[in-house]
Amino acid sequence: MKYIDEFRDPALARTLAAAIAAEARPERRYHLMEFCGGHTHAISRYGIPDLLPATVKMIHGPGCPVCVLPIGRIDDAVSIARQPGVILCSYGDVLRVPGSDRLSLLKAKAEGADVRMVYSTTDALRLAEEHPDRQVVFFAIGFETTTPPTAVAIRAAKAKGLQNFSIFCNHVLTPAAIQNILESPEVRELGTVPLDGFIGPAHVSTVIGSRPYEFFAEEYRKPVVVAGFEPLDVMQAILMLVRQLNEGRSDVENQFSRAVSRDGNLKAQALVAEVFELRPSFEWRGLGVVPYSALRIKAPYAEFDAERRFAVPGRSVADHKGCACGAILRGLKRPLDCKLFATVCTPENPMGSCMVSAEGACAAYYSYGRFRDVA
Ligand code: SF4
Repeated sequence: MKYIDEFRDPALARTLAAAIAAEARPERRYHLMEFCGGHTHAISRYGIPDLLPATVKMIHGPGCPVCVLPIGRIDDAVSIARQPGVILCSYGDVLRVPGSDRLSLLKAKAEGADVRMVYSTTDALRLAEEHPDRQVVFFAIGFETTTPPTAVAIRAAKAKGLQNFSIFCNHVLTPAAIQNILESPEVRELGTVPLDGFIGPAHVSTVIGSRPYEFFAEEYRKPVVVAGFEPLDVMQAILMLVRQLNEGRSDVENQFSRAVSRDGNLKAQALVAEVFELRPSFEWRGLGVVPYSALRIKAPYAEFDAERRFAVPGRSVADHKGCACGAILRGLKRPLDCKLFATVCTPENPMGSCMVSAEGACAAYYSYGRFRDVA
């Protein structure tokens, strides 16, 4: 296939749905977690659950970079933005995530802080060059996909000798989050989140390759199929997982072979390894404090580390009481289980991070009307 609409072909989708229905055994259940928010979005957008037999259940995972940022890190960013002479910039969705007292970066901007939306790290660098009298801080978030551009920006800032540019680094790691889910008490002991297999992320895997998932398949006996973001990609990955489970296999398979290799992008990995190192621990929304699950800037590039340049509160803050984002990110609840969903909490008035980004499970359910059938 060559063109995007071929990956959305309804006739082929029906053929795949029929194959899944034929191969899924009626006496067993298939609980499949799509780790990545991009897949959650595609699953809601194309109504994939409606094409699956009742025995195949999709569970949404924590792979939405905006959703997993805990309130404490938003508060830290607000605190940096409020310091005199600072321009704080980041991607659009991040600016809308509510922190403590529902204060987002956009609200801080309305109160006078200089907060700006950028589309890339290049935009952030340009801001620093255009405002030599101001401190420009890029609020960097995301999984392995967005880490290499941040590394490029740090190297470029060093090469240009920029004294007024720094990064508030919040880059997190996919394999650590998958391991945390598999080792959580809910999965290991209580069995309240039955997980039979994973759909592995698409974009992240173009960088890290499919090799890092081999550990989970082997150690936890859970099959992983790396899949693209189009509906036929997701349907085919579901069929591949159902087949593996029927055959008692737990292998790593690559449905997204048009973009992902076993080793990934070695150049990007080398760049990241040059600039970043593992943090001993990092707090995630939903998963709590996860050891070695995030990156910080290495000593040779310390001058570009906003956490060394600015004092931040660094507090751990509990989520809004009524918000179920934490449980949704661990696969324990669905957006429809939250009493605030589509009533108090909407994309225009988000109470939690899962309603902010298009990759968030609550935003995906809301946007594609998946709550209307249930109401
Ligand atoms: S609907 Fe809103 S309040 Fe409820 S879990 Fe989702 S983001 Fe949180």
